[in-house]
Amino acid sequence: MRRPWVGGNWKMNGVRESNAALLDALAAAEHVASVDTAVAVPAPYWQQSSDALRDTAVAVMAQTVSPHASGAYTGDCSVAMMEDFKLAGALVGHSERRQGVGENDALVAAQFAALQRAGLTAVLCVGETLAEREAGDTLAVVSRQVLAVLELMGAEALASGVLAYEPVWAIGTGLTATPEQAQAVHASLRAVVAAFDAPAAQALRIVYGGSVKADNAAGLFAMPDIDGALVGGASLSAPEFLAICRAAG
Ligand code: 13P
Repeated sequence: MRRPWVGGNWKMNGVRESNAALLDALAAAEHVASVDTAVAVPAPYWQQSSDALRDTAVAVMAQTVSPHASGAYTGDCSVAMMEDFKLAGALVGHSERRQGVGENDALVAAQFAALQRAGLTAVLCVGETLAEREAGDTLAVVSRQVLAVLELMGAEALASGVLAYEPVWAIGTGLTATPEQAQAVHASLRAVVAAFDAPAAQALRIVYGGSVKADNAAGLFAMPDIDGALVGGASLSAPEFLAICRAAG
């Protein structure tokens, strides 16, 4: 039985005052003990988030990471910096970074490796665009994105992280994939990993992201291969995010 994982991706939202209200509500809430919960926050607020959520069940993560240990990489943040602020890990390969900043499969695999070497959690995000889905390329695209990490790291390393299936057309659009659409891709992704290592594939948490809300979460979580969610917009509301966490329990 896989332990559900629910993460909030704040993206580039929030300032200290609004963060404080959200963090206080998360810190004060009763969390479902059977669900792993995290928030991925902008780097300037690692300290604020880490302080507010210390000794709570909610882990703090970064939204991307440099594959390099240190050096002349303007604007980047290293794994050591994340450890310094007691972060649990980072998202890697979010579509907004693949598309917006040009992060490619090789870079994402190197980011995954940097986190894994330090014992931090990597949340590997994969997903197809609308054009790719309409061309019938969904499985080819998401398999390629996962294989880049699998071939570099192996299945056990992948399973030490979390895999997030986030169809690009469902992100921030209100167009959630149906539970059946998401389940079909999750099952295929698990089969890709199983071809390397069947027990690792069974252990791997595969979570869904893309317009997850309190009112559609339970239907998604009822699917056998959907092990939680990566939540964008709805994670900026504590009641909404907490309801999604409860639905996973
Ligand atoms: P939304 O929940 O806002 O669609 O965002 C999903 C996402 O990109 C999470 O990483």
